[in-house]
Amino acid sequence: MKTSLSTLHLRPHHLLCLQTFIGHGYSEEFVQEMTSVKRQLALNPGTPVQLVDGADMLCRHCPNCADGRCTSEKPALFDRLMADKIEKSEKISLSRTCESNHGDVFSDSFMLHGIPEYLTLSHDLLEECCPGCEWKELCGRVIDGNEK
Ligand code: SF4
Ligand code: SF4
Repeated sequence: MKTSLSTLHLRPHHLLCLQTFIGHGYSEEFVQEMTSVKRQLALNPGTPVQLVDGADMLCRHCPNCADGRCTSEKPALFDRLMADKIEKSEKISLSRTCESNHGDVFSDSFMLHGIPEYLTLSHDLLEECCPGCEWKELCGRVIDGNEK
């Protein structure tokens, strides 16, 4: 199987969603893209990840994305909370305009390599970064190993 280290362009909270993803999603196309990105990260845990402010490579396959923007209000909040966590942990300052949902990269110079350890999925992280998400119950069950 071909393994690619091509850079992933992801909005911050999708670093959590990818970990809880078990095949459910907004559409067949979206599920296929999530599956593909999750597989890339599993095969190459050090895959470069460029953080994106607003709609990312996954959003582009989501029916909730219109004119390059997410039509739901909550993801921008999840991104802000995740970006705060990344900033504190990496001791960096991401230039961002989360409210704008533009799909621009946060910062040209900053790159993650896969999903850092401090973003390893946990109930605490869900509580901290995903307030009011419709999928949270399912994600909690995935963490507990009660969903496969
Ligand atoms: S468009 Fe919105 S709902 Fe769809 S994947 Fe992106 S952030 Fe999530
Ligand atoms: S609770 Fe929502 S935002 Fe958080 S990881 Fe699950 S799907 Fe993603």
